[in-house]
Amino acid sequence: MIPDPTTSRPTVVSVEKLQAGYGRKQVVFDVDLHVAEGEIVSIVGANGAGKTTTLKTIYGILPALGGTITYRGENTTKAFVTKNNARGMSLVPAERFVFGELTVRDNLLLGALHERSAAERAAQWKLVHDLFPILAERSTQKAATLSGGQQRMASLALALMSRPKLLLLDEPALGLAPAIIIELFAAIRKLADETGLSVIILEQNIGQALRVTDRFYVMRAGRIILEQTNAQMRARKDYWDLF
Ligand code: ATP
Repeated sequence: MIPDPTTSRPTVVSVEKLQAGYGRKQVVFDVDLHVAEGEIVSIVGANGAGKTTTLKTIYGILPALGGTITYRGENTTKAFVTKNNARGMSLVPAERFVFGELTVRDNLLLGALHERSAAERAAQWKLVHDLFPILAERSTQKAATLSGGQQRMASLALALMSRPKLLLLDEPALGLAPAIIIELFAAIRKLADETGLSVIILEQNIGQALRVTDRFYVMRAGRIILEQTNAQMRARKDYWDLF
């Protein structure tokens, strides 16, 4: 893999001149971005800026209308979601995503279906439980009986069970209590630092994202208008001009 432009680590995903949208309606224009191994990048911007569309196109849920997506050294511009998923991309949508009638344990096991070895499943199970002890405590409970925040944790845990290399998180903090957000972001940071997981987070609240983000892209009206390191973003007096 080629070294990343802003770190000495390999680039996991890079996007060049991405054009995306819905049918003939283009909503994303000329997007360039890259994420290195172990790096957490946040895309921030107002409602409708094109963040989710960009993420879904990288994941292969939406076809790219133009440009190039390279994931782990391979041109995946035309790759379908199933292939991207099998190669270690995982998307956690903004809505909670658990099967309410199944226990927490069964939900998590679904995430590890493609792991062939029981030892690997067990190792991933332990990692996820160490990150989210509350899910271990509730493992025999139906997922529907968890609180909203715990269901969001379970959605993330389900995605982590497949041992992703690139995690795509659509507004993970939405509707969560501040204490849960801190816990969730700390868990994501730990994974990136300790396992080299790369993460793209979509976020509207820059103050919140500063806790976990290495580098920011600011999106407005379908375009990336600014790239900032964590330190550059922290040095700003306010963010209103970015939206
Ligand atoms: P939000 O936080 O509101 O989801 P966003 O930055 O993620 O904002 P997108 O969801 O990517 O923005 O939306 C970008 C544009 O695409 C908006 O104008 C939106 O109306 C439009 N759009 C989103 N989904 C669809 C769809 N399924 N069909 C047609 N247009 C859509």
